[in-house]
Order: sequence, then C-alpha cells, then structure tokens
Amino acid sequence: MTAVASNTTLQTRLFINGEFVDAKSGQTFATINPATEEKIADVASGGAEDVDAAVKAARAQMEPASEWQKMKPRDRAKIMWRLADMLMSRAEEIGRIETIDNGKPIFESQYVDTPAAAECLYYFAGWSGKVTGDTVPVQDNAFAYTLREPVGVVGAITPWNFPLMLAVWKIAPALATGNTVISKPASNTALSLLKFAEYARECGLPAGVLNVVPGRGSVVGNAIVDHPGVDTIAFTGSVEVGRELMARAAKTLKKVTLELGGKSPNVVLADADLDAASKGALNAIFYGKGEVCAAGSRLLVEESVHDDLMSRVIDRANKMVAADPLHPKTRLGAIVSKEQMETVLRYIESGKKEGAKLVAGGERADIGTGKGYFVKPTIFDDVDPKMKIAREEIFGPVLATIRFKDVEDAIAKANATNFGLAAAVWTRDISKAHRVARAIKAGTVWINTYNLYDPALPFGGFKESGFGRDQGRDALEKYTQTKSVWINL
Ligand code: NAP
Repeated sequence: MTAVASNTTLQTRLFINGEFVDAKSGQTFATINPATEEKIADVASGGAEDVDAAVKAARAQMEPASEWQKMKPRDRAKIMWRLADMLMSRAEEIGRIETIDNGKPIFESQYVDTPAAAECLYYFAGWSGKVTGDTVPVQDNAFAYTLREPVGVVGAITPWNFPLMLAVWKIAPALATGNTVISKPASNTALSLLKFAEYARECGLPAGVLNVVPGRGSVVGNAIVDHPGVDTIAFTGSVEVGRELMARAAKTLKKVTLELGGKSPNVVLADADLDAASKGALNAIFYGKGEVCAAGSRLLVEESVHDDLMSRVIDRANKMVAADPLHPKTRLGAIVSKEQMETVLRYIESGKKEGAKLVAGGERADIGTGKGYFVKPTIFDDVDPKMKIAREEIFGPVLATIRFKDVEDAIAKANATNFGLAAAVWTRDISKAHRVARAIKAGTVWINTYNLYDPALPFGGFKESGFGRDQGRDALEKYTQTKSVWINL
C-alpha cells in the first residue's frame, strides 16, 4: 500500500452530519496511486440511504432556527476564512494526498491547486452578507423590495482532474450565501475532499452544512439528482454525464448548472512572440497532464510561422519528461487511471491511423520503475480538422496542430467545434486580439497567455461546454434565488 506522510491520517469514510461514518451497506472501493499502481486505501462507497442521511442533515441546517441559518453572515465568513488559512498552512499535507490519488505533480497540487482553493474561499468569504436585493419602484401606494435567499441544499458533483479545487469552487459560493452542500467527489479521487471535510469541522463549520459522499456516479450521483430534498445540482464533468443528469433532474424540476468538457483552440498569429507562444502552447496542453477541461488541445498556427513555432514547441516537449509526481521538480505526472491512460493511447492510435503526423511522444512513458500510467507529451502536426483527435476531447497530454491561412480562417477553425469552454490568441496586434476574442465562441479567451484563473473572474462554457458560471460574482447566481416582497401602503 502507498504510504502518505507518517503524521497524516487519511479520511476514507463518508462525512455526514459532521461525522466520518461507514456506508450503511458496508461497501468500499479501492483507490489506487496511478504513479505506482498500488492501492492507497479502501474508501466507503455510499448508496441512496447514505445520500438520504446526508440530505436530512443538510436540510436540518436550512431550517430557520438552525445554527447555520441563525449565524451572522460575517461569522460564516470567519469560518470560511479560517478554512482557507488552514488549507494554506496544510497545503503540503493535502497536496500530497491529492498527488498520490490523482497522479498530478506535487508542484501543482501543493503550490497551485490548494492555494487556488484557498483563494476561492477567501474571495467568497468576502461576499458573505453582501449579496443584497433591491428596493424596486412599483405602482402607487406600494413599497416593494427583493431578497436574495439561499437556494437550499446543493448537490455538488465533481470530476477527478482537480478534485479539491473544483469542489471548493462550488462549496465556497454555496456556503457564503447560506446554503448547505452534499458533495460527491469522483471515485478515482475522493481523498482530498474527505480531508477538506475534516479541516472544515476543525474550523467550526456546523455539522450537516457540508457532507461528502463518495461512491459510484450511477449510485450516489443519481441518488443526489433524484432526491426531492436536494434543491439544485452544480455539476462539473463530461458532456455525456451532464446530458444524462440534466434529463434526470427534470423529473424533480431541479435547477441544474453544468460545467462540461472542451476542445479549446490556442491560436498563434504570425506576428506573435513565438517564444512566449511556444511556452504557452506547452502550458496549455501539458499542464495537469492535459487532464484539464480548458486544455489548449488544438494548436492553430498561421501558415507563415508554422515551421518556426513547431520546432520550438517540439523542442520544449521533448525536454518534458514524466517523473515521480512526488518529486518537487516533476512537471508531468501520471494519468489518473489505467482506464484513462488506455483512452488516451487509443486516441493516439487513431491519430496515427487517420494520417496525422506524429512529431513528439506517442506512447507510454517509463519513469524507471516499470510501473505507473505515464504517457509521453504527444504532438500531432498537420492534423485535418475532420480527424477524431481534432474533434473529440481526449483529456490527456495530446496536442493536435492545425494550420490556418489568415485571421478569418483561424476564427472559422477555432469555432468549428461543439464545445466552447476556452480559447487563446497570441498576437502583438491589439486590434486583432480583440477581434478574435470577440469572434471566438467560448466562455474564456486568454490573450498572450493560457490557463490563468482568478476567483473573481467567471469561468464556464458556451455551447456544449455547459451553462452557469463558477467563480466571480456570476457564481452567486447559482446559489441564490430572488424573492419579491410587496407591501401595500
Ligand atoms: P464524468 O465521468 O462526467 O464524472 C464527473 C462526476 O460525475 C464524477 O463524480 C462521477 O462519479 C459523476 N457521475 C458519473 N456518472 C454519473 C451519473 N449517472 N449521475 C450523476 N453523477 C455521475 O467526468 P470525469 O471523467 O470525472 O471528468 C472529466 C470531464 O470533466 C471532462 O469532460 C472535463 O472536460 C470535464 N471538466 C469540466 C470542467 C469545467 O469547469 N467545465 C472542469 C473539469 C473537468 P464517478 O467518478 O463515481 O463516476
């Protein structure tokens, strides 16, 4: 079994009503370290009866006389702030847990993802008590105002690529606005969120306000979606599951928000700083092993600078070597699971078969242990936009490079996708930058950078990348509802 640091206790049981408990069925599932293929621990596998217990606890804290509803918004904020401080001071502990469970480099989990989760809590703590209604002029002899009330019990269902951070993107705004949460982590990566629940309890979050129920998507996920005591579903994950979940939520008429996949274009115009663009192209696709919803998985390059840019990109990619995710210098870790690695390798084979030119990687990587689900940074050149590797989300370290003739061609190719999550454009021409940013149908467009996020800036999709926004003031919309009050004078 893979060991964590000797002074760390893993939480492996469901967190319901402030307690860590076994699943009522007694069932567990094994969670594996993808870098070593060893079992880390057995995690309690929840069922519908556990979801029901979590809903009861969460609903109790939505009662007007409950501790959570009676708590001043500023005191809620203080708990969130303490929790953010705790994440920062224990970033190494929770970062290591994330790394052994997910395979991502410790550099990312300890120094990027955990601080980003903390920043999200700090940011939304600031909103607590500041989400206000309006006084509204209506007819004579009346006075009217609106209240922004919590939606109620939030079902937060999240994926395995940023297990802690993406869950916190939902938990933080939900708590700031007085809701309670049932959080279902992905089965591959439940450990960091369970640890977070332990921290939350230590910071004084009342029992029942946050519940964490790991277990199979088709069991726990469905039970959350079906439960009449859950008021809204905040989902991040694949298009397929998002679609199924939305149809299912129609039965109980639940409000649903979906943060789904992407096939994001990273557009390099001929006048760009090619050195910066080549670095950016690598960060765009190989950060997080390419298991990033916003990954710049389509590199669109203007014909006239194609050869120059590609020689820089390939050179950099060949220097990027997969290694032990726990080593502080590692920048390319292990793919999250054997199943996901096989999916990635199948896409690589399909690229080869369809005639794309493989110019880097293209196979598994061995870090010297003969173990682990590592894949070399892979780059295909001369990809036809009709090929599968140009159309489908691979969710791994595989880049598809496509040439374009001019700005109009770039915009057309960038938009030739069902997705619309993110995009970037590299250029020194400010007018072209704004023109492309406006024309690309995506929720986020970076100019001369990639993969930068801030809790104050909304993030979410256009088209099949979903609807609703995490982060920023927009996220508050998901977790509040407006009540109009009319007073007859
Ligand atoms: P997934 O298979 O859709 O799973 C996401 C979550 O849904 C997991 O917790 C999963 O549980 C659960 N689930 C599975 N089937 C379910 C069902 N029938 N009902 C309710 N819940 C169910 O996605 P993934 O493979 O974990 O993550 C990768 C996907 O997430 C990619 O498409 C990526 O682009 C997307 N993503 C989007 C964003 C964004 O902000 N737009 C961010 C990150 C990732 P189990 O793990 O138990 O199956």
